[in-house]
Amino acid sequence: RRIAQEAERNRPATTTDGHTIAVAANINRADQAPFALSQGGDGVGLMRTEFLFLERGETPDEDEQFATYRAMIEALGDRPLIVRALDIGGDKQVPHLDLPHEENPFLGVRGARLLLRRPDLLDPQLRALYRAAALGGDVSIMFPMITSLHELVALRERCEAIRAELSAPRLPIGIMIEVPAAAVQARALAPHADFFSVGTNDLTQYALAIDRQNPELASEADSLHPAVLRLIAMTVEGAQAHGRWVGVCGGLAGDPFGAALLVGLGVSELSMTPRDIPAVKARLRGASMTELQALAQKALAAATSADVRALNEGDA
Ligand code: PEP
Ligand code: MG
Repeated sequence: RRIAQEAERNRPATTTDGHTIAVAANINRADQAPFALSQGGDGVGLMRTEFLFLERGETPDEDEQFATYRAMIEALGDRPLIVRALDIGGDKQVPHLDLPHEENPFLGVRGARLLLRRPDLLDPQLRALYRAAALGGDVSIMFPMITSLHELVALRERCEAIRAELSAPRLPIGIMIEVPAAAVQARALAPHADFFSVGTNDLTQYALAIDRQNPELASEADSLHPAVLRLIAMTVEGAQAHGRWVGVCGGLAGDPFGAALLVGLGVSELSMTPRDIPAVKARLRGASMTELQALAQKALAAATSADVRALNEGDA
């Protein structure tokens, strides 16, 4: 029975009219890969590398990072692996980095902003990644918290310089869309990025001006808010204008109804906590792309999150 269940989970998430959606896992360490694959994960859509820094109590050097990325690549074989560059700041504070105190850390030097100010953090990570990816696998690099084009251009240049130094193969370079400005400007960013992955946790926080950690407002920090869905639709439009694909690695991707809506909006990859994979795959296999697109159009026209939720009655 267990074998039958695993075989079922490993079937791709193909809609009834033949569109296959990649359903991947968000994981932090190679030892989490077997569980992710046992749940039917088609790969890893988000490896959060900050844990490497958080767990150690000191900054891991290039060789240690290399070993970690290599272990992850080995665990996945030729399945896709998207490694996110260090996303420190905001809710992810690393005490041993001794970063200056900020009044509003979520609006401060976090993600890409920190990477651009700290080549001592960025360069060893990129070197370790290019070295590991040169050994095989299907590896992409992703940068968090991109707001404006100049950040993406500068980070790409840094990648290219390091790649050339190591004579390593080129890797796809994508960005997270988690700042509303980036969603609105997706069309301008797309020519410079190989893919987008929407971080709905932060995108919701910034679009609705709700601290993602404030328990008092937790029920209002709703990724199904039509304003958030419209930002995602803009992201997809901008990407498609330049032939780029869009994934989602925030919490909305792991909710079966949210996943259905996202696919209807044109998202082609979803990445989530491994235990959410089977239900999301099952939901997508039960619907047609035509139904999901109609559902997404209704959601975009809704006035409130409650109206969007009410659409979750039908069979889409
Ligand atoms: C997000 O913001 O949705 C995301 C996936 O990144 P994190 O939760 O790590 O900030
Ligand atoms: Mg985020």
